[in-house]
Amino acid sequence: MAPKPHSLPLFFLPHTTVLLPGVVLALAISRPDNNALVAALYKAANAGVGDRINRFVGCLPWQSSIDESDASGKVAMIVDGRAESDNATALVKVGNRDDRLFYEYGCMARIIRLDRTVTGGLQVVLEGVSRFHVAKVTQQTPYYVVDVEHFKETLLDSSDIPTYTVVAQLKRLSRDLIAVLKSLSSSSSSTVTPIPSGGPQLANNAGALRRLEALVNTSSFQDAGKIADLMVFALDVPVGEKLQFLQTEDINIRLEKAVELLSRQLNMIKLSQKINTSVDSSLSKKQRDFLLRQQLKAIRQELGEKESDGNDEDDYTELVKKLEAAKLTPEAGKVVQRELKRLKRMHPTQAEYQVCRTYLETLAEIPWSAATDDKIDSATIRAAKEQLDHDHYGLESVKRRLLEYLAVVRLKSRGQDHSVIEKAPILLLVGPPGVGKTSLARSVATALGRNFHRISLGGVRDEAEIRGHRRTYVGAMPGLIVQGLRKAGVVNPVFLLDEIDKVGENNFHGDPSAAMLEVLDPEQNHTFNDHYVNIPIDLSKTLFIATANSTDTISPPLLDRMEMISLSGYTYLEKKHIAQQYLLPKQITANGLGPEQVQVSDDVLLKIATSYTREAGVRNLEREIATVCRGKAVEFAESLEPTGDGAKKKEYNPIVTVDDVERFLGMEKYESEIAARENRPGVVTGLAYMGSGNGGLLFIEASKYPSSGSGGGGLQLTGNLGDVIKESAMIALTWVRAHGFELQLADTRTENPVANNDIHIHAPAGAIPKDGPSAGVAMTVALVSLLGMKPVPADVAMTGEITLRGQILPVGGIKEKVLAAHRAGIRKIILPARNKKDVEHDMPANVKAEVTFVFVGNMWDVLNELWPETVRPIAIVESRL
Ligand code: ADP
Repeated sequence: MAPKPHSLPLFFLPHTTVLLPGVVLALAISRPDNNALVAALYKAANAGVGDRINRFVGCLPWQSSIDESDASGKVAMIVDGRAESDNATALVKVGNRDDRLFYEYGCMARIIRLDRTVTGGLQVVLEGVSRFHVAKVTQQTPYYVVDVEHFKETLLDSSDIPTYTVVAQLKRLSRDLIAVLKSLSSSSSSTVTPIPSGGPQLANNAGALRRLEALVNTSSFQDAGKIADLMVFALDVPVGEKLQFLQTEDINIRLEKAVELLSRQLNMIKLSQKINTSVDSSLSKKQRDFLLRQQLKAIRQELGEKESDGNDEDDYTELVKKLEAAKLTPEAGKVVQRELKRLKRMHPTQAEYQVCRTYLETLAEIPWSAATDDKIDSATIRAAKEQLDHDHYGLESVKRRLLEYLAVVRLKSRGQDHSVIEKAPILLLVGPPGVGKTSLARSVATALGRNFHRISLGGVRDEAEIRGHRRTYVGAMPGLIVQGLRKAGVVNPVFLLDEIDKVGENNFHGDPSAAMLEVLDPEQNHTFNDHYVNIPIDLSKTLFIATANSTDTISPPLLDRMEMISLSGYTYLEKKHIAQQYLLPKQITANGLGPEQVQVSDDVLLKIATSYTREAGVRNLEREIATVCRGKAVEFAESLEPTGDGAKKKEYNPIVTVDDVERFLGMEKYESEIAARENRPGVVTGLAYMGSGNGGLLFIEASKYPSSGSGGGGLQLTGNLGDVIKESAMIALTWVRAHGFELQLADTRTENPVANNDIHIHAPAGAIPKDGPSAGVAMTVALVSLLGMKPVPADVAMTGEITLRGQILPVGGIKEKVLAAHRAGIRKIILPARNKKDVEHDMPANVKAEVTFVFVGNMWDVLNELWPETVRPIAIVESRL
C-alpha cells in the first residue's frame, strides 16, 4: 500500500455529514467553498494527467459559525491550537479567511468519480479511507490545504476477552438493527406505517442494507472496526457523537462507543415502533366504529326509522314512564327492574340493546291490570238479549243458549265488581260459514261492554304461534294470545278463537292444540306462560268464545273443555228474512244510499237467494245484495247528473225487479238441480254433509255393462271416493246380490242377478272428495233401480248407513242435509229411524211443513216406500222376523 499523503486539500461536507472510513458517498457539489478545489481536480482529470493528480482529499463537515453548537452541546473552541478538553469536539479556527471554523479531525477520502450531471452541476463520489488530525493549515486560497497526522492502525487482540465480547456484541447489534431496518423498509412500502421518526436513512435503501448485512455476516474479527464505522455512519445520532467517534484513536474505545450508539438506536426504533402501533390500533378502532356507525345510519334510513342521535336518554325515560303507567304485576315489576338495569348498561348500537328494548316495550303494552268497567248482573243479561235480538234474526235456541251461558258466568263471577269469573265455561259455536258465529260473539261482547278481539287460528301449525318464541330467537315475538291482549288493551276482553278446528295437529313444531288447551283450561290459565314474555299472565278474566265449522278435527281433550252450541244453515225463508231485515239495510247504507232509494221485494230477495247462492250461511247472499246495491247506486248517481245533450234524463226507479237482478248479477248461477236430473233407472239423490259444515245433494249414478271376464259382478267406483264410501258401495252390491230373488231381480234363489254384467258406480262432481258411510242407502237403491229398471222419483232424497244385513244406521249432519235438500226442491226425504229426534227437535217449521219425512229401519222399508209392488211380501215378512 502506497504511503498516505501528508498534505491534503480540504473538501467540505454538509455540516451534518460525518464521513467515516469505508463509507461511499455521492454528493452534489453545491458549496462555493469547494468550487476552487473541484475546478482544479476537474481540470487535472481532463488534462489527461488523470493518474497523477492527487486524488485524495481531506473531508470535514462544514461548520459555519461558532454559535452553531452541535447536539452534544459540548463545543470547545480552539484557536490555532489543540482541543482544550478531551471530551469536547474539536474545532479549528482558521483566522485568515472570513474567520472560518472547521473540525480538527477528518476523514481522508479517495475521489472515485467526478461527473457532470444532466442538470449541468457536478457530482462527486467519495470513499472514506482513514482518519486524520489537522496538524497545520498550509494554504488557504484558492482552496485549503492542510498538513495531516494519520491515526495509527492497531490490530485487535482476539484473545482479549473484553475486546472479543465487544466485537461479538457489535455484530449482534448490527444484525438486529439491519433486521429491524429491513422489516421497516418492507412494511413501509405496503402500509402507511411511518418509519419511526429519526430512523436512519438506510431504512429506505434496500441495496445498501443487503451489502451491510453481507459484510456483517462474512467479516473477520479484524474487520470489526470497519463494521463499527459503517454502522455508526448509518445511525441517526447527533453529529457531535459521530464526531467524537471519528476522533477517537483507540480502536477498543471506538468499538465500545459503537456498541453504545447501536443499542441506543435500536431501543429508540423499537420504542417508536411501539408508539406507532398503539396509535395505529387506536386509530383503526375509531375508524371501524365510524364505518359501522355510517352503515347503521344507512340501514336505519333504509328502514325508514328516525335517527336517534343523542335521544337515547329521552327514549329511556319515556320507556320508564310507559312501564310505570302499565300497572305491572309485582312479578312483572321485578323483571322490568332487572331488564332496565341491563338496558342502561348497554350501548344503543349493541344488537342486544334492541332486543332488550323491544321486550320492555312489549311488557309495557300488555294490559296487566287495565280492565273495562263491566259487571254481569240481571240487567246485563237483559241487555244481552236485546242486543242479540237486535243483531240477529231467528236462531232462537242459539240465543237462548247464549243467555244461559251468560247467566252461568254471572253466577260464577265473584269479587266486588263481579269482574273475576271463576272458571268460566268456554263456548264453542259450531256451524257452516256465514251463519253468524262471529257476529253472535261480537254481540255478546257489546252486550257485556267488553272489548272484542278476534284471533284467527286457521292454519296455525306451530305451537310458538300461540305461545310465542323464546327471546333467544332472532326476531322472537309473543304469541297470538299476548298479541291479542296487547291489541285489546284490557285484561278482560272477549276473545273470539276463530276456526279452532283448523289448529294443526301435534307435529315437530310442537303441539298447538296442547297450547290451546292451556289457554282454555280454567285450572291453569290464570298463569298462562308465553315463551317470549316469560312472566305468568292472568287470562282468567278473559272470556273465550271459539268457533268451528265442524267438531271432527278438534282434539278430544280440547273439545271436552268447551260447551258446544251448534248453528246449522238457514232455509231460504230464513235467508229472505235475514236479507230483508239485516243484510239489505246494511248494504244500502254501506253504498251511500238511503232506505227509500232501494226497495227490494221479498220475492226478488228469494230469487237472489235461490238462483245466485247455494250455501248454508248468508255470506254470499250478502255479497250479491251488495252488488245489486252498487248497481243501484250507479244508476242513482247517473240520474242526478245533468245530461249535456238535452236528452231526457233517465228516471231513477228505486224498486229492484227480477230483471234488474239479472242485469246486475248476470245469468242465474244455480238452477234447480232436481229439475236438471233425469228420471232414469240407476240415478238416486243422496244427501251429503261437507266438512265445511255445508250440506248438499249427492247424486249417485249406477250403470252396468257386459262383463269382459267370467261371471260378472265386478265393481268399479269413481268420483273421488274415500275408503269408507267405497266400502258402502261394496256392501250395497253384496246385499243386492244376496237378495236378488226377493227383489224380483232373479227368478230363483240361486240365480245371480248381475250375471255376466259388471257394475260401475259414480258420484258426480268428481273434483270434490267424498267420504263417509251415509251414502249406503242411496247406493243400494241405485243398484236395485238399475237392475230392476225402475226409476226413482227426482224429488226424493235419502241418507243412511247400511249394514250387510240391510239394517239402516243413523248418520250425522241431518239438519244441514235436510235444509240443503229443501233448498234444492226435494219434497220427500228418507232418513234412518234413529235420526227422527233430529228432525223433530230443530227443524224450521216451514221445512217440516213442506217436506215429507220417511223414517226407515232397514232396506226393505226403503224399497217398500219407493216401489211397493216390487218387493215380494215374503221378503218383508222375513226381514221383520
Ligand atoms: P261466521 O262467523 O259464522 O262465518 P259471520 O258471523 O261472519 O259468519 O256472518 C256473516 C254475515 O251474516 C254477517 O254480516 C252477519 O251479520 C250475517 N248474519 C249471519 N246470520 C245472521 C242472522 N241470523 N241475522 C242477521 N245477520 C246474520
